[in-house]
This record gives sequence, structure tokens and C-alpha cells, in this order.
Amino acid sequence: MGFHLRNTPLRFQMIDGHVRVGDSWRKRYDSLKLFTPRMYSALPGMPLSGDPLGYAGRDEFADYLEMYASHFQLPVVLNTTIQKLQRLDGHFQASIDSGQVIRSRVVVLATGAFQRPNVPDISRKFSPEINQYTTVNYRTPAQIPEGTAVLVVGDGATGRDIAWELADHHQVFLAAGRPRRLLPDRILGRSAWWWFDKIGLLRLSAANPLGQYLQRSDPFPGRNKTFNQLLARGVNVMPRLIAVEGGQITFSNNISAKVASVVWATGYRDHGDWVDIPAVKDGRGQFIHREGISPVDGLYFIGRPWQRNRGSALITGVGADASTLLAQINRRHFFGEG
Ligand SMILES: Cc1cc2nc3c(=O)[nH]c(=O)nc-3n(C[C@H](O)[C@H](O)[C@H](O)COP(=O)(O)OP(=O)(O)OC[C@H]3O[C@@H](n4cnc5c(N)ncnc54)[C@H](O)[C@@H]3O)c2cc1C
Repeated sequence: MGFHLRNTPLRFQMIDGHVRVGDSWRKRYDSLKLFTPRMYSALPGMPLSGDPLGYAGRDEFADYLEMYASHFQLPVVLNTTIQKLQRLDGHFQASIDSGQVIRSRVVVLATGAFQRPNVPDISRKFSPEINQYTTVNYRTPAQIPEGTAVLVVGDGATGRDIAWELADHHQVFLAAGRPRRLLPDRILGRSAWWWFDKIGLLRLSAANPLGQYLQRSDPFPGRNKTFNQLLARGVNVMPRLIAVEGGQITFSNNISAKVASVVWATGYRDHGDWVDIPAVKDGRGQFIHREGISPVDGLYFIGRPWQRNRGSALITGVGADASTLLAQINRRHFFGEG
């Protein structure tokens, strides 16, 4: 959004709670590699250097974001968390940590859909001596005593990565959720992402029946971590976790085990407590919008999953959404129909 806003006469500021641009990546687990190859992991106007078919590591991508902001001279104000966002007298008022207030006519929330972990209620059934981690505070296998039994809940890309690396020195149980489709890395010698791009899968609207199927099935790249490959590495791949009592766990196939630690890789939810505008949230506190346009005049979103299509919450797709959204914002608030 910043990249596109630079080319308009509008005055804008980008506020971020982190100390450095890219810290939302630096705070993820150490071994994280992007699941999109470099050629599909760039924002508009600046490719990622390195093998275009290779995968950037966590810090490499964080540094790219920092370079990007500096190269395009984006007006990012760091280390500044918005504690409260309100709409007053036709303007937005953002109160920041220092107590200062920022006023603006339009706000675009680009606060990410993958920040706050979603931990199911069953986690409360573990006794206090069982160490519980989430994808936000798990960094490395060294955090968990060697040789102990660990339960990883969630078989998405992150759950599989974590189960995989823990298997070197731990007894690992991976609890799978609903059946998911895995994508091959290469199809006929090309990156699977190349094919999705060329046949338009990344740009399929959420309203299209195939788009709806993709949204429901949510396939993700297997990256050599199929169940068979995980089993061969010694991971106990299990179906859904159905019961917990102290440190005792039971799966839906009635197999039980004892564990000393748990890693919840069960997805993310919105963190919108600080947005003090009830009309933009549903009964569960999730943000409401249609293609990034909220029901509140002047309040927009960018980077939401399936905001317009599968690419919306991918680095490669967000630029097109930002450009479309900015055209809408301009038409509605600044430059009219002409
Ligand atoms: C484990 C994992 C791996 C992923 N891998 C890939 C991949 O390989 N390829 C890909 O295309 N996508 C990937 N994604 C999706 C990826 O997160 C998005 O593509 C993209 O990085 C999201 O960027 P964002 O700027 O929207 O959100 P974020 O990077 O989450 O940034 C949101 C920012 O908002 C700030 N913020 C939030 N609330 C406030 C507040 N109240 N005040 C001030 N600042 C605030 C935060 O500090 C943060 O810096 C991955 C996601 C996860 C979780």
C-alpha cells in the first residue's frame, strides 16, 4: 500500500509496533523458510535477489522488507503501537503508546492475519507442569528438553516444519486436523507457483466455485513433508486430538500417550481489541470487510486471507490488491469519479 501511495499526492504515515521493519518475520521460528520461491515472494518494484526458484529464509526475507522500505523511502514510524483506534466526528483517531494521538481521514489496517495464535480450549486441560508453546513463542527445538515427548497440534506447513525438526532429539506426536491437500513443489519441471500463476489460480475470486473449493480445501506446498516422509523420520502421525488429562493425550483412533510439552500450530485469529469501532467486527471479534472495504466509512483492510483471491494474503498478490483498493479509496474520498 505504501508503494502505491507514494505515487499519489496524498499524505500518509505507516505506523508499526515493531522496532525494525521485518520483525514480524524475525520473530517466527528460526528454521522457517518461505513456502513461495523467491520469484513469487517479492513486493512490487523490487525482486528478491538470489536463486529465483529457491526459498528465502526468515531473516533474508525480513531484511528484504527492511531494504524495500528504505529504497522506496516509505514513511514508516516504528516502535509505535496503536493502543486504540476510534472514529470521532468523521475522522479516525489513533492513540499511540506515548499517549499522543494521530488523526486521519482514512485508515488502512495492514496488521496481518497471522499474528495472534489460535489456541483451542482443550489446551486448558493440560496440567501446569506441561510446557505449552504456540507458533509465536516456539523458536527452536533447543527450547524443549531433549529426549522428552512433544505433541505438535496442527499439520499445516508450520506444524509439519516443527514436528520435522523436533524429531531429531524428541519423541514427537503430530495431531492432524481435517484432511488437507498437499501441492507438489514442481510440476513438469516448473514451480507449482508458476503454474498457479499462469492458469490464474492465484487470481481466482473467492466467489468463483473453484475459488470456493480452494478456500475450503486450502492446499499448501508439501515441501517433502508428507505424512509418509514424517513417519520415516520417526514422527508419530496421529489423527485429531480428542482428549487431554494432565499430560495424557488421546487421539481419535483411541491411541493414548504421555507428553511433557505441546506446540500449538493451530492457525491464527484476528487481534482487534484495540480497534474500538464495533461496526467493523462480528460477534466473535473478527474483522468484517468485502474486498478490503469495511462497513465503516474510511476504514479499509489489506492483506486479509481471500480478500479478493488466494493471492491476497501472499506476498506476490498483495500489490495488486493494494493498487485496486487505493483506486477505490481515491474515488470515494479524494478525487471523485473523474
Ligand atoms: C509461518 C508463516 C509462513 C508464511 N510464509 C509465506 C510465504 O512463504 N509466502 C507468502 O507469500 N506468504 C507467507 N505467509 C503469509 C504472510 O504472513 C503474508 O504473506 C505477509 O507476510 C503478511 O504481511 P502483512 O504485512 O500483511 O502482515 P504482518 O507481516 O503480520 O505485519 C503486520 C504488522 O502490523 C503491526 N501491527 C499489528 N497491530 C498493530 C498495532 N495495533 N499498532 C501498530 N502496529 C501493529 C505488526 O507489528 C506487524 O509488523 C506466511 C505466514 C506465516 C504465518
